[in-house]
Amino acid sequence: MVADRKDIPTIDSTELRELTDKLITSCHILDHEGVTDGYGHVAVRVPDCDAFITIANISPGAVTRERLIMQDFAGNHLDGATTPPNEWPIHACILKARPEIVSVAHTHSKWSTIFSVLPIKLKPLHHYGKFLSADGPPVYEGVGLVRTIERGNDLAAALGDGPAVLMRAHGDAVVGESIEQMIERTTRLAMLGEWNHLALLHGQPKYLSAEELKVYNDDQKFPLRGWEYFVSRLKDR
Ligand SMILES: [Zn+2]
Repeated sequence: MVADRKDIPTIDSTELRELTDKLITSCHILDHEGVTDGYGHVAVRVPDCDAFITIANISPGAVTRERLIMQDFAGNHLDGATTPPNEWPIHACILKARPEIVSVAHTHSKWSTIFSVLPIKLKPLHHYGKFLSADGPPVYEGVGLVRTIERGNDLAAALGDGPAVLMRAHGDAVVGESIEQMIERTTRLAMLGEWNHLALLHGQPKYLSAEELKVYNDDQKFPLRGWEYFVSRLKDR
C-alpha cells in the first residue's frame, strides 16, 4: 500500500526529474567504473511514498528514461515500464526497513563476491572506507536470487543499520541517504575490495581501527568529490 500521499508523482513529473536523472547517471557510473556488468540495479525512493523507482530488467549501462519503473513496496506496478528487475525485493525491503535511506544499489561486484566467499573480511585500509565499521560489512549467507519479500527481509536484516552487506556468491547491496552517497559507497567498496586483495598478497594488512576511522569521520573538511569525479568520467563514454 502506498502511504502518506494520494498524489503519487509520475516518473516523468517535474518533481521527480532531478532524482530520475541522477538515477540514470548512477547506473551509467556503476557500469563505466566496472563495478557491475550486465546485471545489477539501482533504486531511489519516491519522496513521502512507500514506493521506489528502479530500472526495468535492463543492464545498468544501457538504461534510458523509457526503461524506468515505479513500484510500491509490495511489488505493485505504479508507473513506467512493466518488467521489474528479478530482484526488486532487495530495494523494497531495504527501503521499508530503513526510512532514512534514499537510494539502494545491488551489484554483482567481483570484489564483493570474492570477499563474500573467503574467511577474510573486507576491511577499511584507506580513509575512503571511513563509512564502514572496522570489521567491514556483514555477509548475507542466503544463496539464490532475492525474488521474494521473505528473502528481501532476510537481506535487510543482514544489512541491519549499516551501509553495505555482501551477498555470498552473488555480490552486494549498498545504501545511501542520497544517490550521491550511494555511488560514493558502492564505488569505494569495490575499490577497497581490490586494495584489500592487493595488500593481502604481501602479508597481513594494518587495517584502520575504529578509533582511527573516527578521526577521519570527525574531519568534515575533506570534500566529497566522488559524484562530480565519476560524472566527469562519463564524458569518455
Ligand atoms: Zn543479483
